[in-house]
Amino acid sequence: MGELPAAVRAALVEAQAQSSDPLVAFVYDLDALRRHVAALMADLPPGVELYYAIKANSEAPILAALAPLVHGFEISSGGEIDRLAACPQRKPFIFSGPGKLDSDLRTALSAGVEAIHLESLGEIQRLQRLARSLGRLQPVYIRINPQLPAGLTSTLAMAGTATPFGFDEADLHAAVAAVEAASHLQLQGFHVHALSHQHSVERHLQLLDFYLERWPHWRGLARRPESLVRLNVGGGIGVDYREGRRFDWARLCAHLRARLAAQAQPPLIRFEPGRFLAAFCGYYAMEVLDTKTSHGQHFLVCRGGTHQFRLPVAQGHDHPVLHLPREARATATGGKAWTVVGQLCTPKDILSRGQPLGEVRVGDLLVLPLAGAYGYNISHADFLCHPRPRQLFLDGHGSAPT
Ligand SMILES: *Cc1c(COP(=O)(O)O)cnc(C)c1O
Repeated sequence: MGELPAAVRAALVEAQAQSSDPLVAFVYDLDALRRHVAALMADLPPGVELYYAIKANSEAPILAALAPLVHGFEISSGGEIDRLAACPQRKPFIFSGPGKLDSDLRTALSAGVEAIHLESLGEIQRLQRLARSLGRLQPVYIRINPQLPAGLTSTLAMAGTATPFGFDEADLHAAVAAVEAASHLQLQGFHVHALSHQHSVERHLQLLDFYLERWPHWRGLARRPESLVRLNVGGGIGVDYREGRRFDWARLCAHLRARLAAQAQPPLIRFEPGRFLAAFCGYYAMEVLDTKTSHGQHFLVCRGGTHQFRLPVAQGHDHPVLHLPREARATATGGKAWTVVGQLCTPKDILSRGQPLGEVRVGDLLVLPLAGAYGYNISHADFLCHPRPRQLFLDGHGSAPT
């Protein structure tokens, strides 16, 4: 899983030295985030955009770091619109998700939302009413839940199966007709966010090929097909929490470039990943409070737990763990396989099992990488009333705690 970057290590050592209680903290390497996302942007073919789905991590320093780089943001609630409003740089934003409130839609319209992704017939009627009352012609996309070819779905599927998201293809004609009949809505294209945790470049490019094959048909459902110009292909690029292999984004982009060049009247394409942008920059650091053996299993009891970093239990994996001894010492390798647990009074509070960390002592730090997306924000931090962890954002010249 690699080494801890020197800046992250230094920030943790300093935070631990300053902390009166044993340390628990999230650390985000904003420079690494910028480098990673700038590289993804550089690979995009012409006519292809990349938005960031902020539900993966909407902390203010993350958004401020990404705003100059990405084409825009994807949001799914009024609260997320507030997060964007606090960002120093304004960027276009788009709004998807089931169960949108009228109040959230009104906030989005007033804030100049670039496009709203429609999820149901009822939502089309509500948005038409709201847009009319605000005197706004609102660009919209219709979200599709297509029948996917066999083998192209994943463990977390939003399409190709029964879900609350978007329209089945059988209902698409009615959805297009409903939008065309709405005086204050303007259909600009379609949206498909089919899955999460895509680890296979091969399958993902097959998925994109499939959408592009369907595009002429979907577009042909409109009275004026030429007015539909863009296909939002969602996010879902996976992060390999077990082996640490990176998804080959450059290869996906190269394929897409050739595929779009070969298609007559190709759509403009928009990606909206969350996890693949934010995951790599984050680290969750836990200080070891106790070591013990129970029924033959060796435990490291650490400050914090799954109430602050729920990702490993949510995904059912053993998270990679890096060991940062408190004092420099010759660390024996091999030896015990450790189970890393937190402070919760439940046997489910396990972050990782079978970690061959050698000799670990009370006061050492364990650092869990790949913690930048769906980490702290999907957790239930008030459980057991432990204080919340610090979040440190490293930005070039050192840390800016919040
Ligand atoms: C969550 C979500 C995304 C981002 O998904 P990732 O798996 O984090 O890339 C993109 N689009 C929509 C509509 C979403 O709900």
